[in-house]
Amino acid sequence: MEKIKLVLASRNPNKVRELRVFLAPFAEQVDVLSLDDIGFSGDIEETGETFEENALLKAKVPASLGYVGIADDSGLSVDALDGAPGVYSARYAGEHGDDDANNDLLLDHMKEVPDEKRTASFVSVIACVFPDGSNPILVRGTCEGRILWERQGTGGFGYDPLFYYEPYGKTYAQMNPEEKNAISHRARAMEQFARAFGRRLADREAKKAAPALNSRQRANLRSIAAAQDTIFQIGKNGIGEETVRQISNALEARELIKIRVLENAPVLPREAAQALSELTGAEVVTVIGTRFVLYRPASDPAKRKIRP
Ligand code: IMP
Repeated sequence: MEKIKLVLASRNPNKVRELRVFLAPFAEQVDVLSLDDIGFSGDIEETGETFEENALLKAKVPASLGYVGIADDSGLSVDALDGAPGVYSARYAGEHGDDDANNDLLLDHMKEVPDEKRTASFVSVIACVFPDGSNPILVRGTCEGRILWERQGTGGFGYDPLFYYEPYGKTYAQMNPEEKNAISHRARAMEQFARAFGRRLADREAKKAAPALNSRQRANLRSIAAAQDTIFQIGKNGIGEETVRQISNALEARELIKIRVLENAPVLPREAAQALSELTGAEVVTVIGTRFVLYRPASDPAKRKIRP
């Protein structure tokens, strides 16, 4: 079986290594690659206002190149500062990644905040985007703690020396990597992601294992489709990411859909049917003139309505 190429939207070798460790149970099905591995040399700007937006916009880059894209976005969210530094965690004091300046600025902003209001959480969001436009996976791991009045500990990075984790009675910077990995926001997000990804792989296998339609089933689906309205049109913009996503969603809800290819479309009906079949995992039931019919059973067997 051909392996899935999962591309992490990052050049950081530590992050790639970490992802491989968490996805080790799927090593036979998945290759974890970095942007360098696929020869992508561009920069991805994090212009989002939430961790989710940033993780999604980064994961979309490999997905737009035909890979399964994955990205994380993380940071510190301090309650007394309305969630700051948040998505600006790495560049809080201006320059990207100046941990010392970031910690000094955080202490300065917290100098009037009393003990009981110094609660904060580390957040890690992981997004995984599929090139076929199926629903992205989005998970969020958090770790609750409080901001100290001064640094404690020398390990870790970023805001670790100021983030006190009550159950261990120490800061992130005083933990060894095993301790931190057992409770950190990132580990919690990774665990959730590994579970969600495993479910997605299992669904994919189940769909593949479904036998192709025989001629009687195909004829039956054709006659059901004959009574249906055409619900999509492909026009001059062809088959974009948004079209694939909408058609995939429609298949999930209706299972059988009829699509029309307009004269100004850059693809012929047969080509459009084939491309959408590959991109959504649906079967082409028939192509008649400018229209074609796709069929894909709902992924939840309890929601299947159409019996071919
Ligand atoms: P990014 O997800 O790599 O963009 O990280 C954003 C920023 O959040 C980092 O530069 C750190 O300042 C902060 N951060 C994220 N995770 C941690 C952590 O585990 N410890 C300390 N700081 C962190």
